[in-house]
Amino acid sequence: MLLGVKIGLEIHCQLTALRSKLFCSCHSDYRGELPNDNVCPICSGLPGSLPLLNQRAVELSGMVSLALGCTVPDKIRFYRKNYFYPDLPKNFQLSQYNFYGISSIGVDGKLDYTGSKKAVIRRVQLEEDPGRLVYETGTRDTNFYTLIDYNRAGVSLIEIVTEPDFTDPKDVRIFLNKISSIIEHLGVCDTKLEGSVRCDANVSIEGKKKVEIKNVNSFKDVEKALTYEITRQKTMSIHDIEIKAETRHWDDLRKITKQARTKEEEQDYRYFPEPDIPTIVLGNEFISSLKENMPELPDERKVRFVTDYKLSEHVAQVLIDNKELSDFFEASVKIYSSPKEIANWIVTDLMGFIDDSEHKGSIFSGLKIEAKHIADLARLVDQNIINRSTAKTILRQITKTGEMPSQLAAKINASKIDDAGVIAEAVESIFVREKSAVIDAKTNPNAANFLLGKVMQLTKGKADPKIALNLITAKLTESN
Ligand code: ZN
Ligand code: MN
Repeated sequence: MLLGVKIGLEIHCQLTALRSKLFCSCHSDYRGELPNDNVCPICSGLPGSLPLLNQRAVELSGMVSLALGCTVPDKIRFYRKNYFYPDLPKNFQLSQYNFYGISSIGVDGKLDYTGSKKAVIRRVQLEEDPGRLVYETGTRDTNFYTLIDYNRAGVSLIEIVTEPDFTDPKDVRIFLNKISSIIEHLGVCDTKLEGSVRCDANVSIEGKKKVEIKNVNSFKDVEKALTYEITRQKTMSIHDIEIKAETRHWDDLRKITKQARTKEEEQDYRYFPEPDIPTIVLGNEFISSLKENMPELPDERKVRFVTDYKLSEHVAQVLIDNKELSDFFEASVKIYSSPKEIANWIVTDLMGFIDDSEHKGSIFSGLKIEAKHIADLARLVDQNIINRSTAKTILRQITKTGEMPSQLAAKINASKIDDAGVIAEAVESIFVREKSAVIDAKTNPNAANFLLGKVMQLTKGKADPKIALNLITAKLTESN
């Protein structure tokens, strides 16, 4: 908790589940298309074209609003947000605004994002994505010109606006992960797609002017950018330098924020109602049908994991933070029903191999791992066919080759020695070799563990430790 710090967020999420754009029939999935190929008179803003609202976009954004604890009103409207920037073909963006008793698709939400902290959601609004500015050298600083691709213009976006109640950049990251998991569970947004979720943050200290940070690519960098910005503002404030209200961009290479432009004030946007789209009456039936058809949300899923699979709160939380991970868990449990064992393999071991840098596609990308592998591994351990340390070695190997654990277990001859006769021989020879430890072990239980360690060493970790320890204990009492 940092005193006097106020952080608010504006999170833009594309509704990637939609097939067409928000006001026309161009593809919603613009990725991979030739530049400016996915446009029509409506989304390129030609005079005389008229917008036609995508009904499914209203439904999906309504669902997100309800999931964030917002009220969905009976009526919504669209407003023109006027500003001149080359990514907007119409010179205004069709968005929503709370005005004259008409609000956006969601207002006044509350969301628990850790056990104890609540974020207040000011509103959820449905709006169109602008086009994409393309810098051929990768950064705007080193380009002499800017290319514009309007394929993205008009794609449905929801903007989630929070109250500036966050005080700690770490909390911001936890909250963003939760939002991400919610929209994944609702099936409205594939967060793995590059640019599908973008977060702007505003930050101020001790009643001073508000600075907005844009251009941040990942949630990790949102945390870094905020931490940087708080230090910068505090330092300026100590030296009595004025903090300007401005927009700053996050420089991903140098890991600093830098001035971009002076910020428009709300009144500069000259919001006014879009005359070509009438007020949309949603009605109670619409809202109750959204509630009925709501998919399972992360919080509900967590409760189910704890009750049905007897997982600990912590393990359940790690799994539900990422929908792909929890789907992977449930798919493994369907193949072999040993939920605790499987969850532990995923959370404690498999997570170590996962590259958690964001927007890199699937979290398993680069790993040749499937649910059947973890199921097989858990079964081998449960049935005492391999011990844990062998299983760990095998897991590392599978992630590279995609072989089945049972095949590998046979191949590297890792099958456990559970033949009591063979283990007894090993115990015998250790008792001969470690005479003083044997004497010691008669009074000191730690020394028995030392002997067990020696037996395991001699058998290269393949002896069943339970059988070995039983034999050691028996031999110690018999020689008393
Ligand atoms: Zn279009
Ligand atoms: Mn917006």
